[in-house]
Amino acid sequence: MNTYDVVVIGAGVIGSSVAFHLAKLGTKNVLVLDRGTIGAGTTSQSSGILRTHYSVKENVELARQSWAVFNNFSQYLEDDEASCGLVKCGYMIVAPEGDKLEPLRASLQQQQEQGIPLELLSQQQAAELLPIARFDDAALIGYEPEAGFADAYLVATSFARAARRRGVTVRENVEVKRLLIENGKVVGVSTTAGDFHAKTVVSTQNIWTPELAGWTGRSLPVVPERHAVLALECDPAKYTFSMPVFKDLASPGMLYCRSYGGNQMLVSEGIVGEKLKAAEVEQGDIPMDYVVEVGAQVAERFPAYEAAGIASSWTGVYDVTPDWNPVLGKLPGLEGLVVGYGFSGHGFKLSPTVGLILAQAALGLPTAVSLEPYSIQRFETGALLTGKYGLGAVS
Ligand SMILES: Cc1cc2nc3c(=O)[nH]c(=O)nc-3n(C[C@H](O)[C@H](O)[C@H](O)COP(=O)(O)OP(=O)(O)OC[C@H]3O[C@@H](n4cnc5c(N)ncnc54)[C@H](O)[C@@H]3O)c2cc1C
Repeated sequence: MNTYDVVVIGAGVIGSSVAFHLAKLGTKNVLVLDRGTIGAGTTSQSSGILRTHYSVKENVELARQSWAVFNNFSQYLEDDEASCGLVKCGYMIVAPEGDKLEPLRASLQQQQEQGIPLELLSQQQAAELLPIARFDDAALIGYEPEAGFADAYLVATSFARAARRRGVTVRENVEVKRLLIENGKVVGVSTTAGDFHAKTVVSTQNIWTPELAGWTGRSLPVVPERHAVLALECDPAKYTFSMPVFKDLASPGMLYCRSYGGNQMLVSEGIVGEKLKAAEVEQGDIPMDYVVEVGAQVAERFPAYEAAGIASSWTGVYDVTPDWNPVLGKLPGLEGLVVGYGFSGHGFKLSPTVGLILAQAALGLPTAVSLEPYSIQRFETGALLTGKYGLGAVS
């Protein structure tokens, strides 16, 4: 009764996706454990942006395959009622003359070589799509029509529901206290609800991965980093659902913006945030200085927003690795364990494919996308997946 084929630790969007894909691949004797509730960790704090734009080409492929799932969500889940809340509004990215120009040009070219539908826009074409912004400084404008945003919490709960319907057991409010290890092989987990045995354990613990490092004695580099998100209101300059997600490489904070609720602007910085000493997702302070600083950057690009008000704000925590890219796959020398952590603020858009390839790895199957570039060994070999824009979530 307490024996499963696979135990998944964590029911965020990644763990729920792993569980769904295990079942889809035919493995239904699966147990998912979360010390809280489904999607209530960092997933519920996500801005939900979906794009394939990356400067690291491996990420483009993960995002491309994931987009196909978001774009066809209910059919993929074989659940007519499933919705990921997709708003397919496109993604626009802008660089002025300067140090971000060539990285943007190279990344767009690389995306095109990978078969991503992309357009290069004139300033006038950009203004037609996003009339509330000014583009007179833009030296290069990329536009990805197959992009937008969705609801990460909805995706996590939908994956979990689809997994349950296929026979997976998802238990909330159960904390994993340690791994059960015998002769160098992981054979299960010890929890607040007793011990559970399994041939394979998949850890998708996000900022709580240091617990796994303690249980295994392995070095699993990850730092919890808090980021603030603001929702701004500016009437009559509404940011409607038909306006694209916008990435501003000209702003010091490398701002990203999207429509929020069809008339407000969700905005946040795409750079290093506040490093926390411990993993916690409680709301942090957003100092007025920060609001003023971000507001000034917004007004620089969206002149009417000089008069904008704050409708709401919140904080969320990223699980940041040294190269701002995830660690995916097995840990060397420890049989029976697969990890997926370190999404560094951009894991939602990758979650369908990451769930698939982690499930494949757990079952010993060939993976749809190579796990090799994402292995933990890269921090020792130096084969880092460092992006061209510097540290930040556009990796
Ligand atoms: C502010 C913010 C904005 C973001 N914006 C975007 C975006 O626009 N686009 C994008 O692609 N990504 C974005 N992200 C990133 C994305 O949301 C995350 O990468 C993704 O949601 C992480 O999912 P997860 O399943 O790894 O983690 P989580 O949702 O944090 O799930 C981990 C789960 O593990 C559980 N757990 C941990 N340890 C244990 C244990 N010992 N026992 C039991 N349970 C345990 C926790 O309770 C938690 O529920 C953003 C993130 C933040 C914070």
